[in-house]
Amino acid sequence: MTQFDNSYARLPDRFYARIAPDPVDAPEMILFNTDLAEALGVTERDAAVFAGNVVPEGAAPLAQVYAAHQFGGWVPRLGDGRAILLGEVVTDQGRFDIQLKGAGRTPYSRNGDGRAWLGPVLREYIVSEFMAACDVPTTRALAAVATGERVQRERAYPGGVLTRVAASHIRVGTFQYFTAQEDHEAVRLLAEHVRDRHYPQAQTMLDVYSQIVAAQARLIARWMGLGFVHGVMNTDNTSIAGETIDYGPCAFIDAYAANACYSSIDQRGRYAFDQQANIAGWNLAQLGSCFVGMLTEETGTQDAAVEALTQALNQFPAIYQTAWRETFAAKLGITDPRNGDEDLAQDLLSLMAQTRADFTNVFARLGTDKARDEFTDRPAFDAWAARWHARCDRGPEGAALMARANPQVIPRTHRLEEAIVAATEGDFAKAQRLARVLSAPFDLADADRDLMAPPTQDEIVPATFCGT
Ligand code: AMP
Ligand code: MG
Repeated sequence: MTQFDNSYARLPDRFYARIAPDPVDAPEMILFNTDLAEALGVTERDAAVFAGNVVPEGAAPLAQVYAAHQFGGWVPRLGDGRAILLGEVVTDQGRFDIQLKGAGRTPYSRNGDGRAWLGPVLREYIVSEFMAACDVPTTRALAAVATGERVQRERAYPGGVLTRVAASHIRVGTFQYFTAQEDHEAVRLLAEHVRDRHYPQAQTMLDVYSQIVAAQARLIARWMGLGFVHGVMNTDNTSIAGETIDYGPCAFIDAYAANACYSSIDQRGRYAFDQQANIAGWNLAQLGSCFVGMLTEETGTQDAAVEALTQALNQFPAIYQTAWRETFAAKLGITDPRNGDEDLAQDLLSLMAQTRADFTNVFARLGTDKARDEFTDRPAFDAWAARWHARCDRGPEGAALMARANPQVIPRTHRLEEAIVAATEGDFAKAQRLARVLSAPFDLADADRDLMAPPTQDEIVPATFCGT
C-alpha cells in the first residue's frame, strides 16, 4: 500500500474508537478496481489486506462515531458498526479514506455482527462504480473480497468485505452526535477539519455550510438524471463531502413513476424518487442546527446566526433547480440550457409516467425511432418531439452531449439480484460481467445489449432490502 496520512485519527479520542479489522478465514478477491488502484497509487493487490487480515503499514484503523435521524427518528449514537477506516491516502486528486466495510465488530456494533454478506458488497461495488462512471459524486469501490466465512441473516450467506474509498466518511450525523452532547469544542474541531479538507476556499463557517448545501443540491439533481432512488437518506447517510454514500436498498427506476419507491423498509415513501430534494433539504436543516453555536460566535447573536443559516439553506431550491435543468438539458442535447427547459423535460417525464415507459431506455434511444416505441400515446410523443427538435442541438455537439448524459445501460435490480444469487452459489461471473459493463455504461458492446432490457413481469424484484 501507499503512504497513509491519517488526519481524522489526529482528532481527539472521542471522535472514534481505535480498532483493527477482525481477520477472516479464507479471503478471495472477487472484484478489484485496477483503474482506481492506480489513481490511488495502491500498489498491492492483496486479498489479505482488503479482507482486513493484514493491516498495512502506516494505517491507523478506527471506527467513527456518529448519530442520526433514521426515517425521521432520532438515534443519539450509531457509528461504524461494521466498517473500519484504515486511514487516508493522499494523491494528486486529493485525500481519500480507505475503509473496509464488513471488517468485524466495533464498539458501535450494538447487536450486529460487524460483518457483511456478499450480496450488499457486490451491489455496492457495482452500483457505486456505475455512478462514478456517470460522473456522479460518489464513494468508490476498490475491492470486493469473499471471506470464506458464513454470515447469518435470514439464513447463512457467504461473507464479504468491501473496500470503500471516499473523500471522507463525515456525515451530517457526525455533527449531530457532538451537537446533541453539547460538545461545542468537538463541533468546531469537526467543522475546521471539514473546512480544511473539503471546502478550503470557505472564509467563514457560514461559507462551509453554504458549500455543503450547494454540494447536496447538485448531487440530488444528478441522481434525478439517472432515475436513482437512494432509498435510505437518513442523516448518517448524507455525506458532508457531497458524495453519494450507502448503497443499501437503492434502485434505479425502470417503469417511470415520479413517486417510485423500492425499499422494503420505506413503506410510507419518505425517500421516494420525487421526495429526494425535499429530504436533502430536511437533512441540511438538521446540519444547520449544528452550526448555530459556532455562528453565534461569528455573528454575535443566536437570532442572527439562525437567520444567516436559514438564508443559506434557502439557496437550496434555486441551486437544485439550476442543476436539474442542466442535467436534463444535457440528456436532451440542449447545449445552452435556459429558463423553461425544465418544462420540456418535465413534459417528457409526464408522458413517460402515463405509459410507465422505461426511464433509461427512453433517454438512451431519444433521437432514434425506438424512443417512440416506448410510448402508447404516439401522437402525444410526436407533439413533444416536435417541440424538442425545435429546441435541441441536432448537430454533433448535441449528439455528443446526449451520448455522455444518457447511459445505455444501468444496474437494473433484477440483474443485480441474478448476479448475487449466482455469487451466493460460488459463481462470480455475472457479478464480474456487470461490474465490467457498468463501468463503461455509455459505450455498450453489441454482446452486452441484453443488459438494456427492463425486467419482464416475472423478473420484477418487488422490493429492495437494506444492505446489512
Ligand atoms: P445503514 O443502514 O447501512 O446505514 O447502517 C445503519 C447503522 O447500523 C450503522 O451504524 C451501521 O454501522 C450499523 N450496522 C449495519 N449493519 C451492521 C452489522 N452487520 N453489524 C454491526 N452494525 C451494523
Ligand atoms: Mg449507513
